[in-house]
Amino acid sequence: TTAILWFRRDLRLHDHPALLAALESADEVLPVFVLDPRLLDTAVPRSQRLVASVRSLAADTRDALVVRRGDPVDVIPRLARQVGARQVHVTRETTPFGAARDRAVERALADDDRELVATGTPYAVGPGIVLNGSGAPYKVFTPFSRAWRQHGWPAPAERPARIAWAHPRVASDDLPELPDGIRLEAGEAAARTRWATFLDDGLDAYGDERDRPDLDTTSRMSAPLKYGEIHPRTMLADIAARGARSKGAGTYSTELAWREFYADVLHHNPRSAWHDLRPELARLPYDSGAETDRLVDAWREGRTGYPIVDAGMRQLLEEGWMHNRVRMITASFLTKDLHVWWPVGAQHFLDHLVDGDIASNNHGWQWVAGTGTDASPYFRVFNPVTQGRKFDPDGEYVRRWVPELRHLTGASAHEPWKHDNGYEKDYPQPIVDHDDERKETLARYERARR
Ligand code: FAD
Repeated sequence: TTAILWFRRDLRLHDHPALLAALESADEVLPVFVLDPRLLDTAVPRSQRLVASVRSLAADTRDALVVRRGDPVDVIPRLARQVGARQVHVTRETTPFGAARDRAVERALADDDRELVATGTPYAVGPGIVLNGSGAPYKVFTPFSRAWRQHGWPAPAERPARIAWAHPRVASDDLPELPDGIRLEAGEAAARTRWATFLDDGLDAYGDERDRPDLDTTSRMSAPLKYGEIHPRTMLADIAARGARSKGAGTYSTELAWREFYADVLHHNPRSAWHDLRPELARLPYDSGAETDRLVDAWREGRTGYPIVDAGMRQLLEEGWMHNRVRMITASFLTKDLHVWWPVGAQHFLDHLVDGDIASNNHGWQWVAGTGTDASPYFRVFNPVTQGRKFDPDGEYVRRWVPELRHLTGASAHEPWKHDNGYEKDYPQPIVDHDDERKETLARYERARR
């Protein structure tokens, strides 16, 4: 007998509950990946990263992986019929798009007397499971994270010693070629190596250094987590094993809890992907029009004249990743200095981040904008100069990404306007005055809340 294992955000073989369930249900497992044109745009770094990861998975399955292009509602039932699989195994998906797609596939399979079997999720605790005493979801992070830890999770499962992959004679589509020159670290082996290196070399200092973009000492596990090249409970078990010895352990597991919290929020509030979660600020006026478009373009391209903002936006364009502190600073600049509604920025981030994730990204944006659950208070407006001086104290991060400021030494890179030679390499002047825009934002918030 053959079962299908349909891979999505779980591109690994270790600690894979759905793989184990598939192996238990049949003699052989056919691994499948569906290239869904609605999700795949190879101009987008996230898609490129996905393709690189699927390629690595194909090698890990010793080329048993069958790739099919199309809508899974057609592709999966047809393939199941072709290979005679009664069950299609998946990791449960809880995003609005993924959950709706899976319901449609499940119905199509059922019409043919076949079954979609969901086991496990991309999270240590599946979205929707952590509830408060009255059975309602948590709206605030700290009590969620406490209950999440109390709930706990199973120990990670080993990679099966032997996997009987099926090799039926069915056609497989080619994976798209990536644009020339694109080199991406991707795949399960790379994720596990990165993680092992971080545990040895990075975790201890993480608690003190994670907010410093100049030091670049965070784990960069966001993309491996996004594609499921490693399961978070594997990571949590490794951290727990070091807990007592490592200062960074507690902080790191709290960051993973943020990822779980935002997935839980999205599960309970699918609309929050693209709409304000909190209604209080629904009347907040935003800017738009040709002049605003010009300012937003300057923000997208890293030409705002605020060095830490420009460094972050350029890192995003070049690397497809940005440090968390700088994500907050640049998001604050768009929403509070340029008065632009957060989905505009969230979409730009999703278009460029390799770790672009609807739950973490869009709720991260809402947190900064003051419209989300557990939001940063609406009156908190990040000052890009103070933030830069505090978290990039020697100006190293700015100089790394903004060549026009490389001639300025130390923290002076954060304030070119204070130096006679600050603009000699054509760095742009600030496009808005931060103090004025801060006052404008506070006035708008006050009016909207009245
Ligand atoms: P580390 O500091 O090493 O953290 C470890 C892991 O914890 C991360 O890989 C991530 O999975 C999780 N984590 C850490 N901080 C957060 C957080 N604030 N929210 C949710 N999970 C977190 N993260 C994404 O994975 N995808 C996104 O699209 C994304 N967009 C964001 C947009 C904004 C405006 C903000 C403020 C944050 C966003 N984040 C996003 C969260 C965070 O910035 C990234 O997870 C982190 O920078 C990834 O780098 P790292 O793996 O080195 O992080």
